[in-house]
Amino acid sequence: MNSKGNILAIGAHPDDIELLCGGTLAKYSKLGHKVYMYHACYGDKGGLDKKSEEIINERREEANNSAKVINAVSFVGDFRDGEVTINLENRLLLIDVIRQCDPTVIFTHSPYDYHTDHLNTSKLVFEASYMVNLPKLKTSHKATKILPRLFYFDTISGVGFNPVEYVDITDVIDLKIKMMMQHKSQILFIKKYHNVDLLEMIKINGKYRGFQCNAEYAEGFVECIAWPRKTAKRILP
Ligand SMILES: [Zn+2]
Repeated sequence: MNSKGNILAIGAHPDDIELLCGGTLAKYSKLGHKVYMYHACYGDKGGLDKKSEEIINERREEANNSAKVINAVSFVGDFRDGEVTINLENRLLLIDVIRQCDPTVIFTHSPYDYHTDHLNTSKLVFEASYMVNLPKLKTSHKATKILPRLFYFDTISGVGFNPVEYVDITDVIDLKIKMMMQHKSQILFIKKYHNVDLLEMIKINGKYRGFQCNAEYAEGFVECIAWPRKTAKRILP
């Protein structure tokens, strides 16, 4: 870990992290933190006309290109879309992912989002994140020294999510948009499938959260308040 501390964002599908906390990650990176982006699923069902294997390769490359925009590290897990389930094997897998990145702060999905993979990723991260520093719990990577703080990022389009902390992303909104622009396949797919423009969604959500905290653009978060990882100190940039 560098002296600034590592930051880990865990999303279900390649592009969720960019959409929901890309600005905050860009800020962390600018401040000198090492940023990791773990996408649990291949994203293999995020397309219409291509073969799944083709979509997997394309989305992995898009995720890499997006991470490069902010000098972050991207890695993709081994879940197929719709197949993130809560069990001991997957909890241990997530413990190992967290240990590998040794973060001081973790971001993941809200426990109340729309997609099963989002909900189950959120639950797995919660379960895993308070056990990562137990030396007796063996995984491929060694136990961390500290318990990371855990923050839930916004839901898709903000439905049912009431932030209690905000990060002003005005100075990095261009980077956030540039990250999302790397996910070309999803911009096309979501437009075709849901008639939603993801770039417009980023701007409108950012503006809306910005209105709530007197910033031009912002991202909203809720911290997971659970003993013993919470301190009185504000952590977010
Ligand atoms: Zn998703």
